[in-house]
Amino acid sequence: MRIIRSIRGLQGWRRKHENQIIGFVPTMGALHEGHFSLIRQARKHCSTVIVSIFVNPLQFGPSEDFSKYPRPVKSDQQWCRESGVDLLFCPLSEEFYPQDFQSAVSVNRLSQRWEGEARPTHFDGVTTVVTKLLNLVRPSQAYFGQKDYQQLLVIKQLVQDLNIDTKIVRCSTIRESDGLALSSRNRYLSENQRRQALGLSAALRHGVQLIKLGKQGVRGIQREMKKIATKSTGMDIEYLTICDANNLEPLTLAKGNMVLLGAARLGDIRLIDNMLVKAPKKS
Ligand code: AMP
Repeated sequence: MRIIRSIRGLQGWRRKHENQIIGFVPTMGALHEGHFSLIRQARKHCSTVIVSIFVNPLQFGPSEDFSKYPRPVKSDQQWCRESGVDLLFCPLSEEFYPQDFQSAVSVNRLSQRWEGEARPTHFDGVTTVVTKLLNLVRPSQAYFGQKDYQQLLVIKQLVQDLNIDTKIVRCSTIRESDGLALSSRNRYLSENQRRQALGLSAALRHGVQLIKLGKQGVRGIQREMKKIATKSTGMDIEYLTICDANNLEPLTLAKGNMVLLGAARLGDIRLIDNMLVKAPKKS
């Protein structure tokens, strides 16, 4: 496995591999089974797999955990090597965003709600870094997790709007056996918080169940979800919502393809999760 840090190094490597079908998995490191499921899919579909590890300062707000974000560099490299990654790109922040860096990429409507409200500069940071990475790597396919569902839709929109010649592949959320969605931030949960965190996925599962049973009134379903999420937990719910899965607009009646989105805080740790569900056919 090659490890490249410089932009020029990556561009040179890429020119020598013009004919390859490249699968690309962008990450911020602290890799876990969720990331590896993306790498495995890329491995299956593509002749060459590139992973990037870059803790992107642009997507963190001023009071967020950029400096505390985990960076287990050696073990990440080792895992990538063992997973059959061909090239690991770990850009240096000083070169990626030099002092006179002035550009930004925004996806307007889709970025505004939910995570966009809670983290106002977050998606511009994500879309700017992803645009730069896709321009550099020029992959045939790039793999993103459903775990960050809004991010996935924002990136699909970006690629469509800017005519970037990369297929965005959605990969299912990988969970612990008790339902907790894997996340690099889970390592900061205490044992007690880890137990409390289960309320989020349990609430989403309950919402999915109610919709599958034919319940339609979104307010009633949300009330029940909230009850589960906060039952005997110290979890602070930021949002628990039922939306159109294509545009993330909130619904009042369950219909079509939906996504149930949730975000919650446990102390300093912020968790997000979501589940997709389709309204049952009326008999
Ligand atoms: P991150 O390193 O958190 O920026 O995530 C890199 C990629 O891994 C993103 O596309 C995430 O959606 C994806 N990802 C993170 N956690 C999971 C998970 N539990 N299951 C599937 N994909 C995930």
